[in-house]
Amino acid sequence: MPELPEVETVARDLRDALLGRRFERVEATHPKIVRFPAPEVFCQHLMGRRVDAVDRWGKFIIVLGNTRRQLKAVLFDQARVAGLGNIYIDEACHRAGVRPQRRCHRLTPAQRRTLHDAIQSVLTEAVRNRGSSVDNYRDVWNAKGRHQEALQVYGRAGQPCLRCGAVLRKVTLAQRTTVFCPGCQR
Ligand SMILES: [Zn+2]
Repeated sequence: MPELPEVETVARDLRDALLGRRFERVEATHPKIVRFPAPEVFCQHLMGRRVDAVDRWGKFIIVLGNTRRQLKAVLFDQARVAGLGNIYIDEACHRAGVRPQRRCHRLTPAQRRTLHDAIQSVLTEAVRNRGSSVDNYRDVWNAKGRHQEALQVYGRAGQPCLRCGAVLRKVTLAQRTTVFCPGCQR
């Protein structure tokens, strides 16, 4: 599942390539992603139309609230609408110095703010680097993203933290592999 930076990178490239052009022929190669109307109707409808805009569906929102649930699980729920997934959740928690297993209601207002800012800066930087190619993600031109080289914790369990030197630990939270630093995340 691509996360927001990868989706945004693709959306920007498509925007540059497609705006103002017309569809001559439309084919649904993945008909399952067209829920409504029926794929054939959808294709028919687009034929001859001009592309006015390319947008991604899903934007970043964060409402942590006073739930007693663990931070990682709550961020994952947000992810469904926000495009924030495993990689960037771990990266943002590390940047904010907050452990992903923390219960949300125990986070201080300062930690919430720091976390909010960390999520935004992590995503902004990843978009600037055109996404992370940790699996098979490629952009519109089939090129890899560059952000995988900038990741601080994701995929680095057992290696030293780049900020404090402690050995990064791996745990399973919200059924996902989670990497955090026991030294600088509280
Ligand atoms: Zn650390």
